[in-house]
Amino acid sequence: VKPRLPRGRQFFANPGPTNIPDSILHAVAHVTVDFNDPAFLAVYDRCVAGLKRVLRTEQSVFMYTGSGHAAWEASMVNLFSPGDTLLVIESGYFSENWARMAQDLGLVVRSVAADWRRGAEIGAVEAALAADAAHEIKAVCAVHNETATGMVLPLPAIRAAMDAAGHPALLLADTISSLGSLDFRMDEWGVDVAVGGSQKGLMLPTGMSFTGVSARAMAAHATSRLPKSYFNWTNMLARRHRSFVGTVPTSLFYGLEESLRLIEEEGLEQVFARHARLAEAVRRCVRHWSGNDGPQLFCLSPDRYSDSVTAILLPEGHDAERVRRIALEAFNVSLGGGLGRLGGKVFRIGHLGDLNEPMILGTLASVEMALRLAGVPHNPGGVAAAMDWLAEAAGQG
Ligand code: PLP
Repeated sequence: VKPRLPRGRQFFANPGPTNIPDSILHAVAHVTVDFNDPAFLAVYDRCVAGLKRVLRTEQSVFMYTGSGHAAWEASMVNLFSPGDTLLVIESGYFSENWARMAQDLGLVVRSVAADWRRGAEIGAVEAALAADAAHEIKAVCAVHNETATGMVLPLPAIRAAMDAAGHPALLLADTISSLGSLDFRMDEWGVDVAVGGSQKGLMLPTGMSFTGVSARAMAAHATSRLPKSYFNWTNMLARRHRSFVGTVPTSLFYGLEESLRLIEEEGLEQVFARHARLAEAVRRCVRHWSGNDGPQLFCLSPDRYSDSVTAILLPEGHDAERVRRIALEAFNVSLGGGLGRLGGKVFRIGHLGDLNEPMILGTLASVEMALRLAGVPHNPGGVAAAMDWLAEAAGQG
């Protein structure tokens, strides 16, 4: 396939970073301000309050200049001591990375093993906790939305399993690809630390991440002994911004203020409904392509389908990277690739953030053309199945 010069707007169907709405781009292009200027402090305080509304928490929030990994690292160094044990629920590439980081920091990891296509059984989480009579496990770590596989873990059920086992561990949830796209309720669901980032559902540039932190987690912080300085919550609390030991990334706050305005103007429930609608269109399209021997939805648990990203498994012997390359070079559509052991086997369509029907249909049509050009067997006409669904959903209001 002959590469073409990219013209028109790129269709960015990556599961993060995501499309940035024009009004956020304009808001971020703000002149430099002193981060202690009263006018900026007002913006800052409104952003922190808004972020708490999106996290659905009334507890603490700490923010970091750094991508999601920074927030992961900050939560671990602030909560734990060398040799502490974490129970990581396996979900895919990102749970593996979280576990690896914990080990790098001197923590001990136990894991609840899972088939990546079906997800961990909650009974296995409860059993692992019930077997830990000495309460060595200090925290359960769950990736709410596993971006690598397109699967959601039911956090309320995990909290219920922890309670049923009578275990005092903290619940840490990675909401990096769910916050602002899928329902998440930090306080109601008993999440102790919620890890989030700027570049997914919040539709901002990459570079800022944050953690919602419960009172129980703050108590654990008081006795934690892992080395920390820049990320130390106690050092942050001493500052006016109660975050950021150094310079505050002011431009991102002007963007965040606009992001929160957009989200709240639409309404969180409507934002979730839009994600669910577009995600269902993608799934109907893929199911149509599947036929007998075509591409398949990677996730095999319908009650855990992710409404922010769909991973698509290619038939044996077909290279997902080739499909991605054709989509990019021929049609200027950027798809997500397979991560870790799924490299070359799956590609991913991100459908989160600033997205509507024509954007998703344009992406699906381009993917269908790329499948054809790559010689991947499929049942043509998946886009029509997506259109049927989207028209029906629009008709229902
Ligand atoms: N966790 C999840 C679920 C993610 O999707 C990502 C990134 O895609 C990360 C963690 C890592 O975040 P970052 O790339 O912002 O450091």
